[in-house]
Amino acid sequence: MPTTSRLSLPAYALHQLSRLVYPVFCVGCGNPMHALTQPLCGNCLRLLPATHSERVSNSPITNLFAGRLPIQRADALLFFVSGGVVQHVIHAFKYKNRQDVARFMGRWMGNLLLQAPHYPMPDALVPLPLYRNKLKKRGYNQALLLAEGMGEVLQIPVAPVAVMRTRHTETQTRKSRIDRWLNVAEVFDLNNADQLAGKKLLLVDDVITTGATMEACGHQLLRIPGVSLSLISLAFAHSV
Ligand SMILES: [Zn+2]
Repeated sequence: MPTTSRLSLPAYALHQLSRLVYPVFCVGCGNPMHALTQPLCGNCLRLLPATHSERVSNSPITNLFAGRLPIQRADALLFFVSGGVVQHVIHAFKYKNRQDVARFMGRWMGNLLLQAPHYPMPDALVPLPLYRNKLKKRGYNQALLLAEGMGEVLQIPVAPVAVMRTRHTETQTRKSRIDRWLNVAEVFDLNNADQLAGKKLLLVDDVITTGATMEACGHQLLRIPGVSLSLISLAFAHSV
């Protein structure tokens, strides 16, 4: 028992006992797990719907940005299936305060890139920023946590304040692609551009749908002299 604990001995014993009696649950399938070291059970991890886009030189996700943003490449590592494990994982770190899940998936992303033989490693990871009010409400930026998990595995620094979202965007459902672009096009301002000049940047987000937000942010990053840009997200969701 740690000497700094404020729990009395019976309370501490009860606390330890509760961890044995009440299992933790996998965020993917909801089944009880005994391992406390990771948020997904072995079965969910094995069955994650990987795209394998990081393993090929011409990632199909890159085509989504053709003619829109001059990037080196774009990758999304999982298929987002409604009601599936990936949706549950994203829901947990977006709406249930499961910051550990975002960091875990960030490390998972980093390991996948390490295993991809030809993936071009960036100099710095840039998490897609959240608007300030949203950040205040959620308390953290899930893209930053993903980037930190990746950075830990890849030993690549994270530049969290390279871009700032300066205006709240309206809800993006029921808008055309052009409307979406206009809606987010001017909400990013650079604030530490000098440190990133000449670097290979990798912009990180949780889900790519239309790519409009990454596109707007990417245009700002590409204003930094000498920068080359790639994009990555945990998941790809078809727009409806
Ligand atoms: Zn599971």
